[in-house]
Amino acid sequence: MGELALYIHIPFCRKKCIYCDFYSLTSLHWRQRYIKALVQEIDRQGRSLCEKVATIRSVYFGGGTPSLLTREHFFAVLQTIRNHFVLAPDVEITCEANPGTLSAAKLAGLRSAGVNRLTVGVQSFCDVELATLGRIHNADAARQSLRQAREAGFSNIAIDLIFAIPGQSLLQWKRNIAEALAFNPEHLSVYGLTVEAGTPLDAEIKAGRMHPCSEEVQRKMMLAAMHRLRAAGYEQYELSNYALPGMTSRHNQAYWQGLSYLGFGASAHSFDGRQRWWNCRDLQLYCRQIESGQNAMAERETLTSRQLLYEMILLGLRQNSGIDSRKWHSAANVDLFEFVQHCGLSTEEGLAAFAPSAGHHLLSRLGEALVLSEQGVLLYDSVCEKLVGGLA
Ligand code: SF4
Repeated sequence: MGELALYIHIPFCRKKCIYCDFYSLTSLHWRQRYIKALVQEIDRQGRSLCEKVATIRSVYFGGGTPSLLTREHFFAVLQTIRNHFVLAPDVEITCEANPGTLSAAKLAGLRSAGVNRLTVGVQSFCDVELATLGRIHNADAARQSLRQAREAGFSNIAIDLIFAIPGQSLLQWKRNIAEALAFNPEHLSVYGLTVEAGTPLDAEIKAGRMHPCSEEVQRKMMLAAMHRLRAAGYEQYELSNYALPGMTSRHNQAYWQGLSYLGFGASAHSFDGRQRWWNCRDLQLYCRQIESGQNAMAERETLTSRQLLYEMILLGLRQNSGIDSRKWHSAANVDLFEFVQHCGLSTEEGLAAFAPSAGHHLLSRLGEALVLSEQGVLLYDSVCEKLVGGLA
């Protein structure tokens, strides 16, 4: 085993946001017991992987709201990881954090435990929008958290923003981007709000009490982010992710590039290049299974050759590196560019990823890679649909 990314799921939130369908609970009652089980799971897996065989390129505390943990919790988990794995000298250790759960002392604790990257769930700098989303914080709390994170010594800060919030105007979206930029983050993630079935947001929309942004406004918002962030010197290295030079997220790139990762905790997923498996999505069951010496795996699947190609399309086109035609050829045994033509899509020659195509092509052939044009970014779903349809 070579390099590995580790994901640690922390399923606690102070309150559920109305759009969220991640697994998390709003009570901290089980927190201590959960961390104990998490440490046991890492310890057990580490032993079974034969001591120190893998170098860890990244550790990612996601959730939920990992910033609800104490410094001692982070120490316990990271020490257990160090006991079994070799951490790369430049290992990236990220903690997702929500304004409203951070303080100067909490941030100093995270730093001293070894966390070197903070991704702050700001989502918006507009109080009305934050209230619409059901976030626990207001814009001032977000501003304060970002200032405090710098003061605590974090030199790698990522800001998450959401666009297409019901009631959001294009102008307010542009203001949110401008304010995020004023904090000089190393990284920005900008995601359009998706309405997941069964969430309170879904119910509000179905009842006509909230109205989603039109597709046209959403496209304008996406373009506004692309143009403004690129102009500010950020590289759009993935459809929704932007970074200053050298500051891309190593952890998320492991997912997008199909590298191996291990997930720990309730509902966490793992992947070894061919098989994917995941833990049960129930904190109490997870704790009981780990405490009784079992693993907490709920299911395992082996990806078929077709599924691997499907993922190559979906993940490859999201990245500015695109789909590598040589990897495609060895997996599919057909020429990638002929396949694209066969699917009824045309490509421009030599156009950089995500750049506007004068000929309105959705795809570009860039050396050995197939990448999306700017127009292709806006039609990502339908481009993927056409290519996946061609696999049948
Ligand atoms: S803080 Fe994040 S994980 Fe928790 S409810 Fe909100 S969106 Fe979901």
